Amino acid sequence: MTNPGNSSRTKIKRLPEKAQTDVEALYSVLDSGLVAHVGVIDHGQPIVIPVGYARDRDTLLIHGSSASRLFTLLASGVPACVTVTRLDGLVLARSLFESSMNYRCAMVFGTATRLSGQAEVDALKVVTEHLMPGRWDDARQPTTKELKATMTLSLPLDECSVKISEGPPDDLDEDLESDAGKTIWAGHIPIFEQLGVPIPDQYVPRGTSLPDYVTTWAR
Ligand SMILES: Cc1cc2nc3c(=O)[nH]c(=O)nc-3n(C[C@H](O)[C@H](O)[C@H](O)COP(=O)(O)OP(=O)(O)OC[C@H]3O[C@@H](n4cnc5c(N)ncnc54)[C@H](O)[C@@H]3O)c2cc1C
Repeated sequence: MTNPGNSSRTKIKRLPEKAQTDVEALYSVLDSGLVAHVGVIDHGQPIVIPVGYARDRDTLLIHGSSASRLFTLLASGVPACVTVTRLDGLVLARSLFESSMNYRCAMVFGTATRLSGQAEVDALKVVTEHLMPGRWDDARQPTTKELKATMTLSLPLDECSVKISEGPPDDLDEDLESDAGKTIWAGHIPIFEQLGVPIPDQYVPRGTSLPDYVTTWAR
């Protein structure tokens, strides 16, 4: 695997000071997210589909229905572009032009490979444990029929980029110094993702406690 931004198409040109080129930054963004947006071309039509995912060392793992258009296309070897975006805040500059968002974003280019047999089961466990740590050993395991209905794909993290925007607005000197600018509130407003209180479904017997592993989840 190469460092983020190491190819001509992953080199960040717009606001290059926001580029991160170390692998740890890539891992950090990917490991903190739950949803990836997968972009492919289908008969000339670009489509972008959100999916759950996990990172396993230097690969990204995704799974979906064997009948899914997206997964069938990916398994046929079409080029893909995947993004993971963590929205961290709204940036309120004195000018509308400089107003923006804070974020951590990773982009991966590549082609996926379909996994089968034990490799697929291992990958499904990694995805489950990324999204719902502790759940794999607690919930019922997938049957042969369910595995047949599932397509699990691996995408190498060979060609990636990471862009991170953080901190206060970057106002123009003229806006900071003008009388009008001095009357405008500016700054940034953090956005946090939070898990709510778990709600049992109607089949959970009264008095059943929440699994211990769920009580440790935090976002
Ligand atoms: C939550 C969020 C909101 C944003 N809102 C806006 C907006 O409203 N308007 C706007 O113009 N831009 C916005 N951006 C930035 C946007 O994603 C692009 O970085 C920017 O528009 C430049 O695009 P480009 O194609 O000119 O980039 P270039 O720098 O030419 O892209 C070259 C390469 O850099 C990498 N790259 C580019 N952008 C990103 C990225 N975000 N994350 C990881 N790698 C990247 C890719 O590998 C790409 O192929 C937003 C980003 C995020 C995450």
